[in-house]
Amino acid sequence: PKYVYRFSEGDKDQKDLLGGKGANLAEMTRLDLPVPPGFTITTDACRAYLASGEVPEELSVQVTTALRGVEEELGRELGAAEDPLLVSVRSGAKFSMPGMMETVLNIGLNDVSVQGLAAASSDERFAWDSYRRLIQMFGKTVLDIDGDHFSDALDAKKDARGVSMDYELPVDALQELVEEYKAIVKEHAGIDFPQDPRSQLDMATEAVFRSWNTERAHIYRRREKIPHDLGTAVNVCTMVFGNMGETSGTGVCFTRDPSTGRTGVYGDYLVNAQGEDVVAGIRNTLSLADLERLDKASYDELRSIMRRLETHYRDLCDIEFTIERGKLWMLQTRVGKRTAAAAFRVATQLVDEKLITMDEALTRVSGEQLTQLMFPQFDDDSSRDLLTRAMAASPGAAVGYIAFDNDEAVSRAEKGDSVILVRRETNPDDLPGMVAAAGVLTARGGKTSHAAVVARGMGKTCVCGAEALEVDSAAKTLRIAGRDEVLTSEDIIAIDGTTGEVFLGEVGVVDSPVMTYLRRGLDEALKAAGDDDTRELVTAVDRLMGHADEVRRLEVRANADTPDDARHAIHRGAQGVGLCRTEHMFLGERKQFVQNLILASSEVEREAALAALLPLQKGDFIQMFETMNGKPMTVRLIDPPLHEFLPDLTELSVKVAVDRERGELDPADEELLAVVRKSHEANPMLGLRGVRLLLTMPGLIELQVRAIAEAAVERLKAGGDPHPEIMIPLIGSVRELQLARERVEHVLQEVSQASGYALDFPVGCMIELPRAAVTSAHVAEEADFFSFGTNDLTQTTWGFSRDDVEGSFVGRYIDDGIFGVSPFETIDADGVGGMVRLGVEGGRSTKPTMKMGVCGEHGGDPESIGFFHRVGLNYVSCSPFRVPVARLEAGRAAV
Ligand code: PEP
Ligand code: MG
Repeated sequence: PKYVYRFSEGDKDQKDLLGGKGANLAEMTRLDLPVPPGFTITTDACRAYLASGEVPEELSVQVTTALRGVEEELGRELGAAEDPLLVSVRSGAKFSMPGMMETVLNIGLNDVSVQGLAAASSDERFAWDSYRRLIQMFGKTVLDIDGDHFSDALDAKKDARGVSMDYELPVDALQELVEEYKAIVKEHAGIDFPQDPRSQLDMATEAVFRSWNTERAHIYRRREKIPHDLGTAVNVCTMVFGNMGETSGTGVCFTRDPSTGRTGVYGDYLVNAQGEDVVAGIRNTLSLADLERLDKASYDELRSIMRRLETHYRDLCDIEFTIERGKLWMLQTRVGKRTAAAAFRVATQLVDEKLITMDEALTRVSGEQLTQLMFPQFDDDSSRDLLTRAMAASPGAAVGYIAFDNDEAVSRAEKGDSVILVRRETNPDDLPGMVAAAGVLTARGGKTSHAAVVARGMGKTCVCGAEALEVDSAAKTLRIAGRDEVLTSEDIIAIDGTTGEVFLGEVGVVDSPVMTYLRRGLDEALKAAGDDDTRELVTAVDRLMGHADEVRRLEVRANADTPDDARHAIHRGAQGVGLCRTEHMFLGERKQFVQNLILASSEVEREAALAALLPLQKGDFIQMFETMNGKPMTVRLIDPPLHEFLPDLTELSVKVAVDRERGELDPADEELLAVVRKSHEANPMLGLRGVRLLLTMPGLIELQVRAIAEAAVERLKAGGDPHPEIMIPLIGSVRELQLARERVEHVLQEVSQASGYALDFPVGCMIELPRAAVTSAHVAEEADFFSFGTNDLTQTTWGFSRDDVEGSFVGRYIDDGIFGVSPFETIDADGVGGMVRLGVEGGRSTKPTMKMGVCGEHGGDPESIGFFHRVGLNYVSCSPFRVPVARLEAGRAAV
């Protein structure tokens, strides 16, 4: 197989093979942009390595050929004694995993070529500094030596020479340091630092392959739902140097502001520095405007490349560049990560700039981003104590205890505390803490620092570069310049990722502008908006939601059990109720009546219990029908197992035993215990529930249907327009549905005759058992509609308990790649989805136009909605909060 591609051979659509970075380097090379020559080793090679533990045999020759090509193009040789070619070796997976995997720079330097570099650059100090950086990076990442050994030696050298900054070390100090570093390598890795440039290259390549499987890479992929089996590509690229003096530098820029979505370029630049210095946020940076002053020619070229890339990619791009002695080089570009707000704004901006269509704009935003925009924000009227203001790196409002390190963040979050991770700067090792924290605050680094990039990717609130903070992680204290207090882990702070403000203590939160829009409409949201950014954002959301509603084929309904829920759902655009779980109508103080029903030993007692429940249920339905006036409302007859209405077996047994001992036994308790014991089930969720309970408990169907029918009649009399759809849960056989349906229709007829109103409400069933899906062609004979209950269908298809597995083995299964995500969160398209497909096909073979929907949790899951669209459902039903998300995703599925 072909494992190596020159940059000039690939293009941007080959991310699977070349990784994101490699594909985009290839694309820029094709566009004739100034990309340093190089080549990419494919993800195939990485996967082969990960599978066998050995670098594939063919790779070596292919690397030789590609390297020779680069050498010929440049007229220089890797690690040669004179004017040596140096290369960087960088990971680059299909999906960006910032800072998760390894990079080694300056490959090709050794005791000889360092002299050649010194001569070629006429800068001895630079050459020796590059060499010591190589040994340090190589030692740490390739040879797994603890990085502290190197940084300690560096610090000691600075002390000895009486300087405080790395760049103040003179040449002879760097030469000494190189020898000391080599000794460290020898001591801790047991080998000499490899002098052969090609060995350096091969060892670095293998280290990048290996870094795919580090723990932090695993955690990151899990969090970002990136499959574990993709592997990474390796990019070998000619080194260009941003640290060759004052006319050199390195930077990161965006073609629009990735945090707000504002038009206009945005970036950070560091003079006389290498790329890692910017991303690590170690030094504070200059802006692009500063670059324009410093080096107008490079700035102009960069601006024109930025325009070119944005028109070419038709999207916001982020770019890494280096200027080597006044010559601009492009090191990376990609379609840039952005905040949710920026995504919506940029998508509509690009439509207005005629770069994309409205349909494409829909594909540029996601339900998950919309969800983020719906989160609350700090209340302007809430009292607050401003500690400092810094860079707004990732929006949101987060409040929590200060956590100074990973362990603290993780352990407190596990205990249920909300925490803010506070660090001087973050690095990839801080990932677990960032995942656990509600927000991240750093003292150093710009909007492109590690903390900012990773937090934005996770949708986590982040404020960075708060220089007023003095963070002492060892002592676990935080001081703020100009203030007296010393904050500790017992203090609460609040950070605003939209404004960059940091407050002491709790701050109240209110609806976000997008939430205001969803609740009260565009006009109100525009009126409430405080600035142009917000106005543009809500307008963008409105346009994209409007377009989604126009193009989507799926209807969106809500799961709503109370009039309040139903009202919320309608405000957010629900077209009906897809699932009204009537359980709550039997709980609380009404439980007693249900118990009476269960315990009834005579017809009279049973009738009395039913008669007590009827008016209560009817009252509930009247309210719901009123709220849903004109819109369909699927009422599911009672579903939960019997034990939910009865006392706990163990508790009652103890009580009866104790009471008996004391001679205080109430015979009613004893009787109750007998019933509880008799109806006790080992697997209640697989026991007497749903249609099984309805068919075996006399009067239950009749009670509920009478309540529905009489409530509908009341509404009709009042001029209302009720549209109940009666749904039978948990059927496995058509015969169950047939029996239930006969009884439903009997009551409907009775009430219809008594009232004079026609009550021909649809009667359908849930499909939530494999047997129902497999026999759906038969089931459809008795059903007017199907609603897929994917919660139970997932439980019963996999044969595991929906109530237990999430806290048990799901995490392990995700790590082992058995699941991508929990199947209760996103539909398992192959398995459970296969059941849905069977159900749809069978049902439609009997009744081609039968209405079908889904009402399990998956109905509101952004990723599952596309599947439901493709499988041909008519609607999804989800919790009211997720209705807007479902509308947007249904639109995305349709374009
Ligand atoms: C389902 O099983 O998917 C469903 C909607 O019903 P419930 O969650 O109430 O069991
Ligand atoms: Mg169910």
